[in-house]
Amino acid sequence: MKLDTPRDSIEKVKNKISERNCIPHEIPGASKLGIGITGPTNLLIEEEFQTMDCVEEVIRVTKPYKLVSREMKNEDTIIEINNLKIGGKQLSIIAGPCSVESRQQLFDIAGELKELGIKFLRAGAYKPRSSPYSFQGLKEKGIEFLLDVKKEFNMMIVTEAKDTKSLPLISEVADIIQIGARNMQNFSLLEEVGQLKNIVLLKRGLAATIEELLMSAEYILSQGNFNVILCERGIRTFETMTRNTLDLNAIPIIKKQSHLPIIVDPSHGIGIWDKVHPMAMAAIACGADGLMIEVHNHPDKALSDGYQSLTPKNFKILLEKIEQLAPIVDRKIASYASVG
Ligand code: PEP
Ligand code: MN
Repeated sequence: MKLDTPRDSIEKVKNKISERNCIPHEIPGASKLGIGITGPTNLLIEEEFQTMDCVEEVIRVTKPYKLVSREMKNEDTIIEINNLKIGGKQLSIIAGPCSVESRQQLFDIAGELKELGIKFLRAGAYKPRSSPYSFQGLKEKGIEFLLDVKKEFNMMIVTEAKDTKSLPLISEVADIIQIGARNMQNFSLLEEVGQLKNIVLLKRGLAATIEELLMSAEYILSQGNFNVILCERGIRTFETMTRNTLDLNAIPIIKKQSHLPIIVDPSHGIGIWDKVHPMAMAAIACGADGLMIEVHNHPDKALSDGYQSLTPKNFKILLEKIEQLAPIVDRKIASYASVG
């Protein structure tokens, strides 16, 4: 429909969809207003909508994922938060330790990142670990520290929701709720974050195909939350020299299939701190909308993922490199290097 379609015409279309036991999803774009339809759409007759004056075009989406697809919305989704844009020309950089370990640790790292101009601070309070004997996160205490650090430094918080039980607490502190790789197909968790307003960062599963990642995103959008950022973080292959295999193929493929922003986490992708720079650069070069980088002030003492964490000093060097690369791929990055 045209962007300036009057409200009553929009409602007429939506009512018609509901009367046929389907669900209408309003998807405003920059040039058109889309109404996504899910449910038993095989029973819908295109002509019934095509003949309505206010309807410009009826497109049947053939892909198994609908709302996340480019067919549904051609232009890139740009998520706005506190005057910042995620997606579009601006590169978004999320940085911070793997886990919240103590108030001091979190404040020290956040302080250093703030000085580098970082707006999104990551740190897990609930950690899904392969071993039950590994550090599981500070849980409620970690959330308390995250609330404090958010107030002190006015940074946006990215933190993981490990399960539906901790989700209400997480949603109070998280500007961006991270759904970890191990939870990519936790469908009840996906449905619950789909009902929230928070932005969701959905990480690709360890052995998930690109289509499965998009289907998982579809779960979230289908519940009404369109603020989803995808994240490529490496997949499991036969390779043993790296922690995972960072699948940068996924970036241009997803860009073709979906309007959602996608960022790359090279820290988990390669799992070796001194190989993070080249993979981060490669991610930006191939079209990622941003990066998530693990940064720790004492990587050797980190309670999780120290081996893949950059020191703030080394992270600053990466930001300077990204700043030089960005204009070559027609991207912008806030002047991090000059801030630091
Ligand atoms: C993390 O970001 O620290 C994390 C646990 O990531 P993933 O879910 O991708 O393994
Ligand atoms: Mn980690």
